[in-house]
Amino acid sequence: MHSEHHNIFALATPPGKAGVAVIRISGPRVVKVVESLCTVLPVPRKAVLCNFYDDTKEIIDRGLLLWFPEPHSFTGESVAELHLHGGRATVERMLSVLGQMPGTRPAEAGEFTRRAFENGKLDLTEVEGLADLVAAETEGQRRQALRQTEGRLGGLYESWRARLIQALAHLEADIDFSDEDLPGGLQEAVAVNLRQLCTEIGDHLADGHRGEILRRGFKAVILGAPNVGKSSLINILAQREVAIVTPQAGTTRDVIEVHLDLGGYLVTVADTAGLRDAQDAVEVEGIRRARAQAQSADLKLLVFDARDWPDLAMDTAGLRDEASLLVLNKVDLAPHTAALAAAHNFLPVSFLTGQGVDAVLRAIEKTVEARLGGSETPGLTRERHRRELSICLACLQRAVDPGAAMAELVAEDVRLAMRALGRITGRADVEDILDIVFAEFCIGK
Ligand code: GDP
Repeated sequence: MHSEHHNIFALATPPGKAGVAVIRISGPRVVKVVESLCTVLPVPRKAVLCNFYDDTKEIIDRGLLLWFPEPHSFTGESVAELHLHGGRATVERMLSVLGQMPGTRPAEAGEFTRRAFENGKLDLTEVEGLADLVAAETEGQRRQALRQTEGRLGGLYESWRARLIQALAHLEADIDFSDEDLPGGLQEAVAVNLRQLCTEIGDHLADGHRGEILRRGFKAVILGAPNVGKSSLINILAQREVAIVTPQAGTTRDVIEVHLDLGGYLVTVADTAGLRDAQDAVEVEGIRRARAQAQSADLKLLVFDARDWPDLAMDTAGLRDEASLLVLNKVDLAPHTAALAAAHNFLPVSFLTGQGVDAVLRAIEKTVEARLGGSETPGLTRERHRRELSICLACLQRAVDPGAAMAELVAEDVRLAMRALGRITGRADVEDILDIVFAEFCIGK
């Protein structure tokens, strides 16, 4: 690729005033850049204090230089990091000097990571983990993203792919070299392995979307008839400074969301239009959206008016399922309902007086923790992973189907399953199949 012949550079820290600004340079001729800036080539991988000069030998700044000769760097190419004073003019001057150097140009978005991937430093799941780590807003997201950048998820998929490569090697050996000295019962042994893999991949897929929800945020939706106190609830949640990540307001008839950090998990709470028989076209649309939100919610907060007890609004009550919390609001206006409601698994609250609000927060937190907490095993974090794994599993299920008699077709399904896994990590090389065939069976002796 044309761009690979260039050195690329970019400001790695946010623009604007700061104590320190870091500029990163990567490419085949970074050694020339470093020599030109510092006049000498410093010791690799050690921070060195030095003057940085432009091409007229005028000093640009004095700062730290880190120099990583290839291939031991983030990108796999030679990389230099310049730690400058974080002033606008200093950074601008350095970027302009770098831009004048031969074979050196500003990096495009994600280009350092792309080079790291192309040089085999990161697989695709690690690349995605890195993007998630930069975007992480809560502890849960940070921990999951870090595990992914460390290769835990990619490692799992690569281990499955390695087992498929092995199985395929055995199947192909059986097909192509059946007259050779091959161990007997090979096909049965392969089938046992493939069935085991089906179970493991099936379990991994049946994770209740844990990793994906952790990444995008757990979605709670407030639903109820008009005037039961839905907006009051979202306002209360939004005013809890400890909880808020980013408030996002829509229009009153639309959906209003707040993003909370509850116990380290990102929780998005959405307020919706009141549920009732509406005539007005805008209101009807609002209610349609509220119902759509209810469908995709991880948790429904169903809010009722205590004064209606026990004749609760049917539109709301009809949405009740195992992913619901029942909230009975305005108990200040009907105090006798509080104990009755609690006995029926309702949370009695008053958003006016604040009574019971903490219990609602704790209940949300508990539900989120039950759904997302606990597991340290790497979980898939994107629809992309889920899609490829589903393809992989479908192929393997076909392959282990007792009706799948023809070895060639079984081998083809295993090959397709392998490719699906390879697409997740971005490493699909068929060469290793041959390697295993030759290593294990000494064919062609
Ligand atoms: P929404 O239409 O469901 O969003 O309801 P709002 O949050 O806008 O509340 C409707 C009305 O009920 C407002 O006048 C609130 O002040 C009032 N309200 C909300 N919660 C309570 C409560 O716990 N007790 C009392 N007495 N009034 C409340």
